[in-house]
Amino acid sequence: MTASATGSARFLIVGPQGSGKGTQGVLVAEAFGVPQVATGDIFRANVSGGTELGKRVQSIIEAGDLVPDELTSELVRDRLEQADAASGFVLDGYPRNRGQVDDLDAFLTARGEALDAVIELEVPRDESIARLRQRAAQQGRTDDTEEVIANRLAIYERETAPILDVYRERGVVVRIDGVGTLDEVTRRIFSALAERGLAPDAGDAVSA
Ligand code: ADP
Repeated sequence: MTASATGSARFLIVGPQGSGKGTQGVLVAEAFGVPQVATGDIFRANVSGGTELGKRVQSIIEAGDLVPDELTSELVRDRLEQADAASGFVLDGYPRNRGQVDDLDAFLTARGEALDAVIELEVPRDESIARLRQRAAQQGRTDDTEEVIANRLAIYERETAPILDVYRERGVVVRIDGVGTLDEVTRRIFSALAERGLAPDAGDAVSA
């Protein structure tokens, strides 16, 4: 089963492109025995699988624009309703703007649930651009061209970064310095969560 000493592990991980949130999100999810739900990965899987959804979103993703909220929020709701997400999840890449925050709030509130923490990975712009260029050379993602990277970062700064203020007001943001080795950043995340009483329940993690 799951999840934390407090009984639930509902997390968001937020940070600019190239902040390492995908990698860190997986590690947090594994430790707490909850699924990582990364909207970008779900969209890409649909594009490569040639599904109806994939056909609808392909050109949007290739331009680095946002898929419409309605479609994205429905996809996330369907995923979070699955049994493995009952006591927790790590959402990566969602919500990405104010409308999606409202959609997620409505979904969680209707279930009597709330987020336990929003992990903010802070990485300076120059560093995230450098990391994205390196990833582009290694992975060849179609949305990792200079022009599309610039668009994705601009959307992050304009639409996504402001959602952190909403969560800050609720007192759930855990700010993490994202510059350092992968292990250093992982350690910072786990100790900051533990300080808030959010530690994986070891017994549960083994049986998960
Ligand atoms: P990155 O954060 O590096 O831009 P992601 O893998 O998170 O990459 O997302 C890739 C693309 O998928 C985005 O550029 C966007 O087109 C689409 N996408 C992912 N999550 C969302 C979302 N929450 N809302 C709208 N579009 C999204």
